Formats: sequence, C-alpha cells, structure tokens
Amino acid sequence: MKTYNTHQRKALLDFLQSNSEKAFTIEEIVCSMSEDDISQSTAYRLMTKLVEEGLVHRTVKGNSRSFVYQFINNEKCEGHLHIKCTDCGKVYHLDHDVSALIQNDIKKNTAFEIDSHTVLLGKCGDCK
Ligand SMILES: [Zn+2]
Ligand SMILES: [Zn+2]
Repeated sequence: MKTYNTHQRKALLDFLQSNSEKAFTIEEIVCSMSEDDISQSTAYRLMTKLVEEGLVHRTVKGNSRSFVYQFINNEKCEGHLHIKCTDCGKVYHLDHDVSALIQNDIKKNTAFEIDSHTVLLGKCGDCK
C-alpha cells in the first residue's frame, strides 16, 4: 500500500513538474495523466500533502469554488517575485532582474523592503 502511494505521488509530482508553467484542477490532472490508475480521491489526498510540504501551490480558481494546483520549486523561486492570475490561478515567475528592479524602485520611493515571497495579483494573457 505504501509503495503504491509513493508511486502515485511521484507520478503526480512528475506531471506537475513537467507542466510547471500551468495550473490545473484535480479533474484536469487526473484526466491528463497517462497513469490512469490514480483516482480523484487519491489525487486529492496526495495533493493536500504536497501543498503542506510546500511543493505545490494551491489557489482558488476565479470566483469558483474549485482549486487549481501548480508546481513550485522553492529553491529556484528564492529571490524573485511572482504574479498570480486571479482568474485561472496560474503563477508566473518574474525574472530576477525584473524582481530586483521592482523591489529597488519600491525601496527607493517608500523605504519598504518587499518580501521576496510577495505575490502580485493580476490577470494573465489568456484570461484578459
Ligand atoms: Zn518562482
Ligand atoms: Zn489566467
């Protein structure tokens, strides 16, 4: 049972990791995964764990009550800001240069040091 879960967890993580520029609902993930042996309830359970561990970012999708999930590499994400689409929940990683520019500008004008985990909100190109 344990190895079975580990296998599914890895498959789930692999899927999110190779599609890390997008955010998915559980339904979409279960449908898109070639491993058709993962059930929706298993996916939910594993995903909750991945969110707790900080490997996956969870957002509410627009005004709906469903969640979307996206893989986040915390090590790689150190030192840059993110923009989150308030409609589809997709998280976009800003370049280090752009992040530094924004942070420096704000610091210059307000003396505030923006926390690098700050997430800016907006609408992505697909949702405009
Ligand atoms: Zn990032
Ligand atoms: Zn969007």
